[in-house]
Amino acid sequence: MTDSAGAGRKSGIPFIDLQAQRERIREHLDDAIARVLEHGNFIMGPEVPELEERLAELCGCRHVVTCASGTDALLMALMAWEVGPDDAVFVPSFTFASTAEVVALLGAQVVFVDVDPDTFNLSPSSLQSAVAVAREAGLRPRVAIAVDMFGQPADYAGIRRVLEGESVRLLADAAQSFGASVGSAKVGTLGEVSTTSFFPAKPLGCYGDGGAIFTDDREVADVLRSIRVHGQGTNKYDNVRIGINGRLDTLQAAVLIEKLRIFEDEIISRQDVASIYNRLLGGVVKTPDVLKGRTSAWAQYTLRSGRRDDIAAGLRAEGIPTAIYYPKVLHEQLAYEHSLRVDDLSVSGRLATTVLSIPMHPYLNERTQEVVAEAIHATIGRDGRVPALDEDGGS
Ligand SMILES: *Cc1c(COP(=O)(O)O)cnc(C)c1O
Repeated sequence: MTDSAGAGRKSGIPFIDLQAQRERIREHLDDAIARVLEHGNFIMGPEVPELEERLAELCGCRHVVTCASGTDALLMALMAWEVGPDDAVFVPSFTFASTAEVVALLGAQVVFVDVDPDTFNLSPSSLQSAVAVAREAGLRPRVAIAVDMFGQPADYAGIRRVLEGESVRLLADAAQSFGASVGSAKVGTLGEVSTTSFFPAKPLGCYGDGGAIFTDDREVADVLRSIRVHGQGTNKYDNVRIGINGRLDTLQAAVLIEKLRIFEDEIISRQDVASIYNRLLGGVVKTPDVLKGRTSAWAQYTLRSGRRDDIAAGLRAEGIPTAIYYPKVLHEQLAYEHSLRVDDLSVSGRLATTVLSIPMHPYLNERTQEVVAEAIHATIGRDGRVPALDEDGGS
């Protein structure tokens, strides 16, 4: 995800407006940063455990271990479970590179799984095929990584049903969804272990890289804390396992504590923005579905259209920025040429050619959204109502 504001020359509409958020809490941020510069505990200073406590409180999980990035969070979770060679890890093909690369880094086998066309999330039935693919290849099915794409939690109940009787652990890549929920269960509690990212463009972003790992399992949390500091035992010069330098900077923790104070309010604003887009764009393009009983953190507002490239060009002509997450699915990337996969990854492939993310942030006003919607209407024609998206992705 881009963290550049990407303001359109003509419209001045940014894709994400981090400055509007900064204006809102400027003094608090400045004070928090100054406090860290004053006490000087830049590594594992008091703001780090304070943030961990607040994150745990917000999502209702027992243990939170912050770390250096969303990618490290995934890596550390797999390391804590001792994932390695001969292990199969199931990953959706329609996701960011991190989800798969951490598996390969540990010498385990990625098995690519298809996603659901409406939620963009891991398909439980495709996961079932993937478990069979792993077995046929002589691998041990070990972990399924469900990604909460664009902010909506994956189908954890459906995935659990498929995994029943298997000793496959469920890891939630919640890099885009912190702040969302399924019923009364908040993101952070949906996987056995859940991870998130504080990359600036994520719903809860810091001013650099950062991440966190959530679990109710005390032992796993202790192992994660050890992995975070080079596999330390009683201290960092006592190495009881292989670890990494995976710490979150104190400065970033201080920034996040201030951003957390307005976070729930921002999530509500994101939902309002999404509802307005749904109303303005429904029937013209395929607007994103959020399933009943779930909320999304709306990391992105991603529409689908067989005329995606025309829409992007039309918006660009008006100076309105867009982004494509993701233009190329992972199973087609050179790096994953030799990876295992289910036979049918057609939904992932079709999404890569039909998705388009438009400006989304909590400070977007309705007038601006109307400008965006008008540009989309003008591009694909108001009358005749272009069919949203047929099965072939063409319309
Ligand atoms: C952003 C993202 C990550 C990685 O987070 P970083 O903090 O950039 O390392 C992992 N998975 C998904 C789905 C993401 O969107």
